Formats: sequence, structure tokens, C-alpha cells
Amino acid sequence: MAEDIHSRRTAKQAQDPVCKMIVDVEKAAARIEHGEHAHYFCSEKCKHEFEKNPKKYH
Ligand SMILES: [Zn+2]
Ligand SMILES: [Zn+2]
Repeated sequence: MAEDIHSRRTAKQAQDPVCKMIVDVEKAAARIEHGEHAHYFCSEKCKHEFEKNPKKYH
């Protein structure tokens, strides 16, 4: 499990696990709550890509 793709809720920026882009948490196009952390995405497209195969990104 890669710790760097898991962003704390207090973080201001996060890495999109799909395209590796750094996204501004408040401006992220999409988000997935994942227990204690969340994943942020630059676009719905990346979110869908993540949802298709979440294990690939963990
Ligand atoms: Zn996660
Ligand atoms: Zn992306």
C-alpha cells in the first residue's frame, strides 16, 4: 500500500493516484472517501479510472 496516495483530510493538496497530478483539495473535480482518508482527482475521468480498479492504485 503506497502511503503517498493517501491524503489526510486536513491536507490542502493531494496527488491524483491515477494521473499523478497534484490537485488542490478544494478544487478537486472528484473525491472518494476511503475510511480515514480520501482520494482526490483532477477529473471525473480519473475517478472512474480509479473506481474501475482501485487495487491497482493501492
Ligand atoms: Zn485509499
Ligand atoms: Zn487525474
